[in-house]
Order: sequence, then C-alpha cells, then structure tokens
Amino acid sequence: MAKKQFKAESKRLLDLMINSIYTHREIFLREIISNASDALDKRYYASLTDSGVGVSKEDLGIVITSDKENRVLTVSDNGIGMSMEELENNLGVIARSGTLQFKQQLDDSADISAIGQFGVGFYSAFMVSSRIRVITRRQGADTAYCWESTGADGYTITEATREEVGTDVIMELKEDTEDDKYSEFLEEGTIGRLVKKFSNYIRYPISGMVSRYEEKTGSTEDKPEYEKVSRMEVLNSMIPLWNRPKSEVTTEEYNDFYRQSFGDYSVPHRVIHMSVEGQVTFKALLFIPSQLPYDFYMKDFEKGLRLFSNGVMIMDKCGEVLPDSFRFVRGLVDSPDLSLNISREILQHDRQLRIIAKSIEKRIRTELDKMLANEREEYEKFYGVFGRSLKYQIASDFDPKSAELADLLLFASSKEGKLTTLAEYVERMPQEQQYIYYATGESMNLINGLPQAELLNDKGYEMLYFTEEVDEFDARRINSYKDKEFRSVNNDDLGIEAEDKETTEEDKTLQNGVVNFVKETLGNEVKEVVISKKLKSHAVCLSAGMGMSFEMEKYFSAAQPDSNIRADRVLEMNPEHPVFAKLRETMMSDPVKAADYARILYVQAQLMAGLLPDSPNDYTDMIYKLM
Ligand code: ADP
Repeated sequence: MAKKQFKAESKRLLDLMINSIYTHREIFLREIISNASDALDKRYYASLTDSGVGVSKEDLGIVITSDKENRVLTVSDNGIGMSMEELENNLGVIARSGTLQFKQQLDDSADISAIGQFGVGFYSAFMVSSRIRVITRRQGADTAYCWESTGADGYTITEATREEVGTDVIMELKEDTEDDKYSEFLEEGTIGRLVKKFSNYIRYPISGMVSRYEEKTGSTEDKPEYEKVSRMEVLNSMIPLWNRPKSEVTTEEYNDFYRQSFGDYSVPHRVIHMSVEGQVTFKALLFIPSQLPYDFYMKDFEKGLRLFSNGVMIMDKCGEVLPDSFRFVRGLVDSPDLSLNISREILQHDRQLRIIAKSIEKRIRTELDKMLANEREEYEKFYGVFGRSLKYQIASDFDPKSAELADLLLFASSKEGKLTTLAEYVERMPQEQQYIYYATGESMNLINGLPQAELLNDKGYEMLYFTEEVDEFDARRINSYKDKEFRSVNNDDLGIEAEDKETTEEDKTLQNGVVNFVKETLGNEVKEVVISKKLKSHAVCLSAGMGMSFEMEKYFSAAQPDSNIRADRVLEMNPEHPVFAKLRETMMSDPVKAADYARILYVQAQLMAGLLPDSPNDYTDMIYKLM
C-alpha cells in the first residue's frame, strides 16, 4: 500500500512535537498505556453487554517488553483492537477538537506536559521513537493490520497477522546522543518506575520483566550462592484509589491520580473523597481544578463524571450525576448499584443515579460554603477561575434553585476595595439603607466617574461594581437578597431623598420649559428628558429607564449584531447646575445656539455612561463652533 500523508495540520503538529525540547518525554509511556487500558475497558464492557464475546476480566492485561539489542520497546494489550478503518481514522489524523489549542500552547510555552488533555496522546511516542509499528486485530475480525510510520513523512497500513485480538505498539527508540539517552526506556528499572509513577491505578495488570538476585537451588546455608532471576511480574498496584480509606491516601497520590486520569497537569484545587452507604452505595472522587479547562467555555464542552460499576468503567462523561452549577468539577463515581447496561436514555430516569447526583451536589456545595467561610483566600482563588461559571449558571437557568448560588458570589465593592459577598454587603448596610446598590460599566474607573454615583458616595452607601455583563443579569434573576432588592445606580430610582430644596411653582414652570426644549431638540434620540434627583456636581447624566440597561444592550448587540436591540435613553438634568441656568438664558436669546448646547450635553451624558455618540464628528464640529 502506498504511503499516505498525514493531514497538513497533523503534520505540522507532529513536527512540533518531535522537535520540541521536552523534559517530560517519559509521559509517552503513560499515554500508550492509557490507550491500552481504554481498549481493555471497551473489550470487557463489550463482553458484559454483548453475548457471544466471552472474555473474563482475569484474562485482560497489558504487557511491556523491551529488546535492548534492537532498541525496541513494545506495549501489548488484548483489548478491543482496531479495524483498518479505525486505524486510518484514529492514527492517520491528528485533528480532534483540541488540536489547535494544543498547538497554541506548544507555541506559547513549549511545554507539552498536558498533552493527554488534547487527544494527541499516541503521537507523543514519536518523541522517543524513530519508527512505530502498530499491529492490531479488532475483536470479531480475522485479519490483523499493521500501521507503520517514521513520523512526519506519513504512514502505511498493510495486512498482518496476529494470533489474538488486541494491539501491539512497537516503538523503535531513537539513537542515543550526548544529551538524550533514549535507551533508558529499555531498562527494567525505568519502566517499573514509570508505570508506578503514572499508571499505578490502571485496573488491569501491567506486566513487565523484573529481575532480582535469588538464592541458587542447591546453595547451602553456610555458603549461599545467588543468581539473577528474571520473570514477568505485575508492576502496578491496580487497587483503585477511591476504594482505599481516605486516611490512607496521601495528597500526592490524589494529585497524581488526578493528573493521570483527567489530562490536567496542574494540581487540583480541592479533592473530595466520598464514601456513601445507605439508599445507594457509592464512592466518588471529585476534583475542583485549579485552572480553567481550555475548552470550558466552548460549545462542545461536556460536563460529567466518569461512571464505574464496581471498578468497571461504563461511561466516560456522565452528565446526569453532576449539576450544571458545578459543571467544572471533574472526577468519578463508582457504585455497585449501577447496571452495566445503562444507556444514555435510561440514565435520565435512573433512580439510583438521581440519588447519587443529589448527594454529590450537596457535598460540593458544602465544600464551597465551608471554603468561603473558613478559607477566604483559597475561595477567592477558586472564584477567580470558576466564579464566572457560577454567574452564568444563575443568569441562564430558570430553575429557582440556581438563585441559591447567590451566596457563593463575590463582587468588588466601593467600600472595602476588595471582594465581598452579598451577605457581607447586607450585613454592613446602615439601618436606613433600603436597597443593594450596584453600578454597571466596563471598568471600575468608568463606574466611579458616573454622575449617578455621587449621591450614593455622599450618603456613604456601598456600591457593588458590576464589570462583567453577566452580573446584571444575575441581579435581575436573584431580584432580592435577604429581602433587599437590587437597584441599579445607573438606571433606577435610588430611593434616596436628596435634600429637597423648596421648588416653587414658578421654578417648576421654568424647569419644564428647559426640559421640553431639550426633548424637542433631541427628538427620538432620547425617550425622555427629566429633572434628576441624583445629580450633584454634574449637569447631566444618562440612564436607561426601566427596561434593558446599556450594558445589556452592548451584550446583545455583540451577540446578535443585526438585532438592533436598544436600551431606552433617559437624559437626566440637574436644575441646580449653572449650566442649566445658562441653557435657559440662551434659549431666550439665541435658540439655535441653545439647541447646540442641548446636543452637547446629551453627548456628554452618553460619554459618562460609557457610550459613544452616534456621530462624533457632529459633536466635535459643535465644540469648534463654540470655541
Ligand atoms: P486519545 O486516546 O486521546 O483519543 P490517541 O492519539 O492517544 O488519542 O489515540 C487515538 C485513538 O486511537 C484512540 O482514541 C483509540 O481509539 C485508538 N487507539 C490508540 N491506541 C489503541 C489501542 N492500544 N487499542 C485500541 N485502540 C487504540
């Protein structure tokens, strides 16, 4: 068969990987073993669910052999194997979803330790191999196939023979150089160490050659004689971590397990080890990651926990056991009460699974509550990574329970200069303060410049900074916290009485005259022009009325550019400001000029609200004219 080329993107990636100067190249063994283990899972699972594929768990395993003379390291498994099409699809293209991000990371840092996360695991073997052959026979097939490649220049697939179902990955190691001793991977000691380090909890035996000195038969007690004996032995411990008592598992072990199992090279932020007996019996290992998964906010991100039934993996990502609110949690659940034949359709109605899910949700919630109460710094670290996810959950979910997440939110505040919970905010509220005040804007700076905020500051009331567009959606969803309603500093009536100066009927008539003039001048650009109760040192401000806010408008018009969604514009005017008097005067003496003033004031209000005027040119022209 003619040589086939890798797809262009794959080829470039392969080049990068092979040539990267990389200190963790030993992880290739973990990747190859993990593929073998997956293949064994698939075969065992098939044997339980399909009749006619009889294979018992005891017969399944992985064998590592090394041939020093020929510099060949082989990892064999009797897993499900691959058909010719599968070989082609699985090993001919490196084009799974993570590839591009992976490449990005490689470019950025030359650190590919997180390689498993991106589904390019197999190719890591090219970091140490000059040639790889994969001989494989698919369960149910009589023919075996051999895939062969020396790396970037493509691959061939030919027919081959293999006695039994399974796969051999045959790696010819690169020549040693001054700096790189690839031959170390042929040493028993190295192989044993790497298996323990990276693959200890693989639930199938990984056998390798182990040599030791033993007493020779016939040697006497007075004169013992020893000889070197080599035999195949199981190198890994095989006992699932989650079946061991919590007290006996070290942090190191949890961390290693997490990294090996979930392709995240960073240390998890939190580990939760559950062992529940009762209505349903199960064990769970849950991890709160310390960094955002690269695809967390992408469309095809799938939440879920790995599902096991008595140590046999039945599903890689079971979404039903993990609530959306905590979709960032990774981990696994193992329960003898789960049926192996569970299908995606049954999952949703499975009573056991629902009980498990409830219990897991409660446990995660408790963990976060405790962290927030007792380890603030740790919680803020967590919040820095996943706070946004919580906020989106509240905003998007119409389940009334999602508002319960409000306790977990943190916001920057004008008072403390640091993050505050809503409970803390309410706690600090002076007796007479009725509302929880928030202000929206692109940055804290812009918010601080809002004319509307002045009165609040004067009163010494605290204000929450809503700098993410989702924040305001949350406030609307939550509506009130501990019986205190949210009020937007930008748009709402703040419910604060400014020291009322007596306004005479005469004043009112004069004010109305100005307001009407400005409204007429601006026409439909503004919904309303009003006399403001909020303003102090500023002449005008712009608010958005009752419906959508400006931040929401920005959000929607970014999301759906053609929708023409627009918040109402309400121009508020300060009758105490000298500009107001000037405007009134000019209205009488020079109405054309006064109209320009009105337009200028409107643009100023827009700018302070973080909006750009529709026509910056007209604005500058007006200013030139004035000057
Ligand atoms: P990933 O394992 O992340 O999917 P890999 O590049 O490591 O990516 O492997 C690609 C695919 O090749 C696997 O998903 C699997 O379908 C197949 N594969 C690899 N090794 C084996 C094996 N030993 N037995 C059966 N299939 C395998």
